Amino acid sequence: MSKTKTLFDQSSNQDMTPLVPNKSEQHAKDFKITILCELEGPDIKPLNDATMKGNYMLKIGERTLDIPNDKSTKSITLSLYKMKGLRGFLRRACETRIFELLYQGFSIIPPCTPNAMYPHEEILQAHLTMGYHIQGSCKENPCFIYRLFGGLERISSITITPPIIAKSNSERLPTKAQEYLKEHITDLLHINTAVFSTGDAALKTETFNIINRDTDNAVNNYMKHNLSGVFKFTVDFIGHINEHESVYENIGFFIDSIFQINNGSVQLGAMKRSGSGRVNIGLCFAESNRKFESLTAFITEEIRNKTEVKVGSRILTNIQPKYALSHEFLVQCHEKFLTKIKNG
Ligand SMILES: [Zn+2]
Repeated sequence: MSKTKTLFDQSSNQDMTPLVPNKSEQHAKDFKITILCELEGPDIKPLNDATMKGNYMLKIGERTLDIPNDKSTKSITLSLYKMKGLRGFLRRACETRIFELLYQGFSIIPPCTPNAMYPHEEILQAHLTMGYHIQGSCKENPCFIYRLFGGLERISSITITPPIIAKSNSERLPTKAQEYLKEHITDLLHINTAVFSTGDAALKTETFNIINRDTDNAVNNYMKHNLSGVFKFTVDFIGHINEHESVYENIGFFIDSIFQINNGSVQLGAMKRSGSGRVNIGLCFAESNRKFESLTAFITEEIRNKTEVKVGSRILTNIQPKYALSHEFLVQCHEKFLTKIKNG
């Protein structure tokens, strides 16, 4: 048997007490595994055209960058948009995955209710009838939703960094500038989930007016957005090193939940009934910020991660290692999850 398997499979009888760090506990033994994901969607409607509800694209600001252009530099102003609603979308996928697995006969605890508070009792009752339990009522033996997303008494053990779409304010950018921005956008913005949208390629924005029927005045400028393309996001899984097995199961559960997205059961954004919002998610790579025994067999590379702090005209640098993990690590996390739900 390979070393990899031995190290990874020694879990079965360990204490499975999850996994979500309490704020008061020490952080020195925390570790973080980051998974970079790609989300591909040909037609994501961040805003419902008819009701104007649910704007999932938030303009978060503008940045002016000087980029090389022949022998000089060119100043380009970019608008930055953040894709909102990704966390809720992933949570919905996780919830529906649990129901699907229950339906298929697997042994898994039903999910926490999506909301902590229900102003309308009938909605709570409807959720309970569907099989949800009151959020946090599972804390003695937490369901995977509570393990990942937490609740009122427990902080979440995952952090989701959504896609950031950078769009040039100028309609006509030289091809060279476009190519430079496409290639260097994550470094230029210091955001590893950034993508550069050329023209209308990834993010199409239009401003339009709504006419107030009583006054015949245009009352609002609404931004209409349409997303199409490949977007990046990251999910951090956080836990204590001595509870790493639970974190691996959480990762396996997250991977399993992606089936629910890729098979079309859960859509992103608005206008879902008109066929928008079908997306496909793939995992690109995983890395850890700590090195410990059960991970060593999966580490493919130590990355020297440089951080800079500008102090006036000087630059201070700090090197912190990160550890790239093989794809086999993610496969084994998924297998670990499947084993857990088979055995109960
Ligand atoms: Zn629960």
